[in-house]
Amino acid sequence: MTTLADASPACPPQAFQHYNVQALMPVTQRPAAVFTHGRGSWLWDSEGRRYLDLVQGWAVNTLGHAPPAIAQALAAQSQRLLQPGPGLYNDRAVELAERLVRLSGLERCYFTGGGAEANEGAIKLARKFGALHRGGAHQIVTFEHAFHGRTLATMSASGKPGFERLFEPKVPGFPKARLNDIASVAALVGPQTVAVMLEPIQGEAGVIEAEAGFLRDLRRLCDELGLLLIVDEVQTGIGRTGQLWGWLSSGVRPDVMTLGKGLGGGVPIGALLASERASCFAPGDQGGTYHGNPLVCAAALAVLDAVTASGFLEQVRARGEQLQQGLSAIAQALGTAPVRGRGLLLALDLPQPEQAAQLAEALRLPAREGDPGLLVNAVRPQRLRFVPALNISADEVALALRLLRGGLGL
Ligand SMILES: *Cc1c(COP(=O)(O)O)cnc(C)c1O
Repeated sequence: MTTLADASPACPPQAFQHYNVQALMPVTQRPAAVFTHGRGSWLWDSEGRRYLDLVQGWAVNTLGHAPPAIAQALAAQSQRLLQPGPGLYNDRAVELAERLVRLSGLERCYFTGGGAEANEGAIKLARKFGALHRGGAHQIVTFEHAFHGRTLATMSASGKPGFERLFEPKVPGFPKARLNDIASVAALVGPQTVAVMLEPIQGEAGVIEAEAGFLRDLRRLCDELGLLLIVDEVQTGIGRTGQLWGWLSSGVRPDVMTLGKGLGGGVPIGALLASERASCFAPGDQGGTYHGNPLVCAAALAVLDAVTASGFLEQVRARGEQLQQGLSAIAQALGTAPVRGRGLLLALDLPQPEQAAQLAEALRLPAREGDPGLLVNAVRPQRLRFVPALNISADEVALALRLLRGGLGL
């Protein structure tokens, strides 16, 4: 194993009880540990315990924890220019927009503070498009179990069962179709429809893929009716699936694409990309004080340098293959469904109905002296999701599989 994994923590250990976690709003269940530092695939808590992290800030840390390339980019940029404001061009935002436009084949880019804001922007763009070109059509067909974020509009666009009764009334205009069922989409399309919006792989729903044939049918339907196809690549973009964009495996280019998570590699930035035809914002339609500030754009440029370097995506595919094979062997031993997902966005079904959260907590606290903890995500009651750093090593994947088998008693 790497020497880093065994290195003693950079901070003196401090007990969990030392922290007053009561000062934070309890918006989610968190394990009883406070995390203080990390490096690559490794994370340390305040008591000096180390963890092999296959959650990575929820598929955010493209290059792992505290990658030197991002640290250097942030340090250098913070000494040049932090924020001239959205009313002025800055060199980093221009450079990043050019790179994303070139890499996606889309033509215009707008930066946001994260994924939900990028989707919120996509929704506004579609409504503007409807006002300009489709007689005020404003409905956007979205999908059951979809996840597009936690602003009011993106929660309304989401099809997450837990969201149904929260923060009523919802923003109207998001009829829900069934994924991989083109007839269910066609049935919802009418004169008020302006767009269809989906994730290439529904991540939060439990890693459920939109089939390539379905995406091609959607593209055809949108072309026939003049609708915009909006692809939410917040989780699947920036190499997560083994290709730069999730839609590449189907060959279906969207009119609008949103990014977040992996784009900043741990630094909060999202992006909204659109074709020239779809890009209809006029001055005054969209903005945000921190949008496109050069600090976060510098981090995203460092991420893109790494992900587009020769051999990087081949490594993602190789590690994805390794993890998939190891998980498949486990699924076979457990007698559960085939492993889901592509690249380094994978999920494993478990035999017991409510086993995932319990198992994730058991894996966090290693059974054997000297073993690290393993962090995995209980994405559904009976399913674990794995979204490691894209630069995870073969040894680290092998260790994760060994720890997982141990936790399952295999
Ligand atoms: C995480 C996620 C979002 C929300 O992004 P935030 O940065 O948390 O606002 C939106 N869509 C998808 C597909 C996501 O996975």
